[in-house]
Amino acid sequence: MIYIPYYNVLSLPDVSCYYQLNYLNSMSDKTISAGDKVLFLMLKSNKKEGEITAQDIYPIATRGIVESIEGEWALVHTTTRVNLDSIQVQGKHYQLEMRVRPDVEDMDPEDVKKRFHKMRSDMLQELEGTQWLMGARNYVMRWQNMNELVTFTSGMLQISSEEKYAILEEDSVAKRTEMMEKAFHESLELYKVNNEAKTAQEQSHEQIYREQALRKQIDFLQKELDKLHPENMTDVQKFEQKIEESGMNETARAEAEKVLNRMKQEGQESHEYGMLYDYLDFVTSLQWKKEAPAQIDLAEARKVLDGEHFGLKKTKERIIQQIAVMALNQKQSGSILLFVGAPGTGKTSIGQSIAKALKRKYVRISLGGVRDEAEIRGHRRTYIGAMPGRIMDGIKRSGASNPVVVLDEVDKLVRDYAGDPSSALLEVLDPEQNATFTDHYMNVPYDLSDVLFVCTANTTDTIPEPLLNRMEVISFPGYSMVEKFQIAKRHLLPKAMEKAGITEEELTVTDDALRCVISDYTMEAGVRGLKSRLDTLCRACAVTVVSGSQEHVAIEPKDLRSLLEVSPIRHDRILETKNPGIVTGLAWTQAGGEILFIETLFTKGSGKIMITGQLGDVMKESVQIAVSLVKSMFPDKAGLFEENDLHIHVPAGAVPKDGPSAGITLTTALASLVNGKAVSPELAMTGEVSLRGVVMPIGGLPEKLMAAQRAGVKRVFIPEENEDDLMDVAEEVKQALEIIPVHRVSDVLEKTGILRDCGQEAV
Ligand code: ADP
Repeated sequence: MIYIPYYNVLSLPDVSCYYQLNYLNSMSDKTISAGDKVLFLMLKSNKKEGEITAQDIYPIATRGIVESIEGEWALVHTTTRVNLDSIQVQGKHYQLEMRVRPDVEDMDPEDVKKRFHKMRSDMLQELEGTQWLMGARNYVMRWQNMNELVTFTSGMLQISSEEKYAILEEDSVAKRTEMMEKAFHESLELYKVNNEAKTAQEQSHEQIYREQALRKQIDFLQKELDKLHPENMTDVQKFEQKIEESGMNETARAEAEKVLNRMKQEGQESHEYGMLYDYLDFVTSLQWKKEAPAQIDLAEARKVLDGEHFGLKKTKERIIQQIAVMALNQKQSGSILLFVGAPGTGKTSIGQSIAKALKRKYVRISLGGVRDEAEIRGHRRTYIGAMPGRIMDGIKRSGASNPVVVLDEVDKLVRDYAGDPSSALLEVLDPEQNATFTDHYMNVPYDLSDVLFVCTANTTDTIPEPLLNRMEVISFPGYSMVEKFQIAKRHLLPKAMEKAGITEEELTVTDDALRCVISDYTMEAGVRGLKSRLDTLCRACAVTVVSGSQEHVAIEPKDLRSLLEVSPIRHDRILETKNPGIVTGLAWTQAGGEILFIETLFTKGSGKIMITGQLGDVMKESVQIAVSLVKSMFPDKAGLFEENDLHIHVPAGAVPKDGPSAGITLTTALASLVNGKAVSPELAMTGEVSLRGVVMPIGGLPEKLMAAQRAGVKRVFIPEENEDDLMDVAEEVKQALEIIPVHRVSDVLEKTGILRDCGQEAV
């Protein structure tokens, strides 16, 4: 038995009420569970536990039973009144003798019910128009009988504690009903008078206090009930609770409450309701509380990075450094990394691995084609259909305040009349400003300083300077054949098989077949195409296995064409014959490196220059430079350019080519043409040239060398200033090629044998 002493409220039988479990446990020396019996002891004066003596307890009490335990709450149902024949109290320990005290049923139960309904509607009517009807209505409607009504409102009844006891003591149902009605109506009358007196000052402090206390209790119990039965909650109640629990900052809370009040006033029929709902739903779904950084174990982080990605040694090392610095500074963000490289080189997926290594949430936000500033920073809510910007939307999706956010394709932001999205992005990435980033839709600041941003791009060329300056560029040069093979074998194929539900017993792809897929069915720096080819193979295998035609499928190079249903790619190979005026060059494209041929020819004419092939503007300028250079280097041959028309052709191959890096190739081809000296097709070259005859550095060296190796080139001239980039070139490529750094155009011409006299300073 649990004894619950109480003062100045009533506890009548046949009432169901929730009590805080903690409170009940503190009364009893055992842990409360469903089925336990309780006894409500009414006190004559307000005594604290431990001070209570037998004389303080009225001799009639109410017995009840714990019906259920729901979370932190115990539902107690009171059953009967009891006479306490003997009372002994010692601290928390009570020894009581009790007898049930039955009611005298001298009234028609229907009549009692009617009078209860009348009381309840009187109460609701009185509450009508006051601010606390909202929360109280549902609650009041749950009361089943007059006892419940009086028990719950007894703290507010304007009668003394003795008078309350008199109600409990009364055996006659008729008389008790009358007493309750009288006390209730008098109190209600008083409340009415007080209410009509309007100003709060005129209310007695006690009255205000009681009211507030009761209101608080009702609110509190209502919320608890709503938690147990969320399906019954109204939107307003739901958001009240969510705002309470969200941990929002002051400003955000004030804004949310403003919107909530609007929602209350407008009601569900209002056309604004949906908009208000969406706003509250958005802001309350954000994680406002700061999360403590997870313990970082560098070895473990390394394991995660290595486990998910093959190669990328430098990138991984840089990421580990970043993680270490963050751990040392006890910060959750650090410098913003920008991964630059061709599609499918693992930029996005390594972003995901960073999140895993840091044990943080991951979210990807695509910025490709974003041209409106509002897409980053949100639309003001005054617009119909206003939405939060992509940044805050991403943060919401992550469900955390410190996710790792991969901002994909920052090079594809477009600036136009709708504003400059990159300037909005600057604010997001600036550690000085992003602690108070304000999305126009939210209209309140949100702290982004714990978010770790990682950006990806295919090129840095189109990224505005201020944005680029904020980031640390890490390039993803693309994978060599050997790396692609390892990635396919260790990662892509097992994943593709798992996705298709195929086991190793059912499918083997031979190493040769894998190599063949890489070299003949994909043309890319990354592995995205490779991944989709392997997916296709696995799907084809699934069909064979499921149809029962074969239990095991082994894929060899010869099967690829029919399984992949495409013809293999034809890569340019070096030319077999040696002709003056034709030189092999190296080009960089989004899909990686390619070799190209510069073909030049003189035809009888009058000094015109004709250029054909898919050449961009920059390459056309390189032609002019090459012509001028060759004329000045071989003055005795300059006449050829006047007597003839010059035709320059660059066979298109699969991709258009542009950029200044064909300068040296063009110059060499022309020098070869005018001197009638052929250059070996096994020699390739890349480099921009200046009018001074200097070979200047170029980009994309690793990809270009990879292409050279694939095409069968043996020797490559590269600009001296690019020598450092050789560190990024795969070993196998370096071993297959003789790589010769050159500084001047004349070096190239000497080494190709076009300049006969080695000591001659041509330019
Ligand atoms: P990007 O963002 O550079 O376009 P993704 O990150 O989307 O490329 O990579 C494409 C696919 O290739 C992903 O499935 C990824 O897991 C896989 N991938 C790329 N690089 C590697 C690697 N080094 N090791 C394992 N898988 C890789």
